[in-house]
Amino acid sequence: PYDRVWNFSAGPSVLPQSVLEEVQRDLLNYKGHGMSVLEMSHRSKVYGSIISDAEATLRRVLKVPDNYSILFLQGGGTGEFAAAYLNLMASKSVREKQQKLGRPLACDYIVTGGWSKSGLKEVERLGANVNVVLDGVKSATTGETVYNSLPPVSEWNLGKPEETAYVYYCENETVHGVETPANFVVDAVDPSVPVICDMSSNMLSRPVDVSRFGAIVAGAQKNMGPAGVSIAIVRKDLLDRDESDPEVTRNIPSVLDWCYFDGAASMPNTPPTFSIYVCGLVFKWVEGQGIETMEKIRNERAKMVYDVIDAHPEFFHGLVDKKYRSAMNLVFTLPNAELESKFIAEAADCNMIQLKGHRSLGGIRVSLYNAMPIEGANAFVAFMKQFYENNH
Ligand code: PMP
Repeated sequence: PYDRVWNFSAGPSVLPQSVLEEVQRDLLNYKGHGMSVLEMSHRSKVYGSIISDAEATLRRVLKVPDNYSILFLQGGGTGEFAAAYLNLMASKSVREKQQKLGRPLACDYIVTGGWSKSGLKEVERLGANVNVVLDGVKSATTGETVYNSLPPVSEWNLGKPEETAYVYYCENETVHGVETPANFVVDAVDPSVPVICDMSSNMLSRPVDVSRFGAIVAGAQKNMGPAGVSIAIVRKDLLDRDESDPEVTRNIPSVLDWCYFDGAASMPNTPPTFSIYVCGLVFKWVEGQGIETMEKIRNERAKMVYDVIDAHPEFFHGLVDKKYRSAMNLVFTLPNAELESKFIAEAADCNMIQLKGHRSLGGIRVSLYNAMPIEGANAFVAFMKQFYENNH
């Protein structure tokens, strides 16, 4: 019997049970080394293979090309908001382009929800010359800015390639439940401009053509593992710098410096050793099934829930344009706040937790990450149907 709860948290979130069992099995004495991974020096040989295996597995799973580095970093998804900007602006090709232009290049931000908005705010704080490519859509009824869809590409305000340092977006908006289709942004951007993507909440849920990105960044604590580590997959030419010019790195703290990590196999200082170890096990778990299977299951799980929403639109109100609905974080409201509280309370009685929508949005949010078994989605759907029968 399944004696754990169905955990629909947006992150940190459910991990594969087999991974947790392996962690537990190896906790006191990791593979005969007489100690826990928690206690191990990151300079030991055994830890060296844990981190290099994790990297190699992720490289295979996502078919990361050789001209990309995979970095394990700290500072969360938020740390990468700043890191992406600081590292890109120090890159040789970007600086040369800027010199040619004779004024600051623009950093293009595509704002599709709360997390890309946070990414934008962070670089504004650091003094970036930002260009907002789009900022949600205007509500047809109120005229207010809402984050439930994307305007057509023809309405995007992308800068000229020779004036743009990079284009930034967040592929899955964890709060607003908006997911940008694969390749949608890279198809719209001039290939000479690096695209930086925050994939914190949909990484490893579908294949990605890494070769089309300048960098992919993500916090681990949704689909990849526990909190404490973030990952950057960076095209190596963007790590080229003019090291003789002290201006180049003056403003980059070492812990956010991708080159510093790249030059030391992600261990210039102490890494979050245990988090990386667990991520490595999750990468193996994904590899065992294949990334295509992850995508198939993710779509099945999400469709089951959206089908119930669409069958009773007067009761379950999906918040996002169907074209851009997230398969990871599904957001909807009920006819009133009392019913929403009742829904959350009764779900908890059925061992289903973490269904309250983000405080900025309200309603219900159900997160269906890779490690959520199809049985969990089944249980939730059965609950939704019963709740509808009892309350409509
Ligand atoms: N980006 C996305 C898409 C996220 O969902 C989150 C966290 N939920 C972040 C960035 C920020 O990550 P962190 O909390 O690790 O800083």
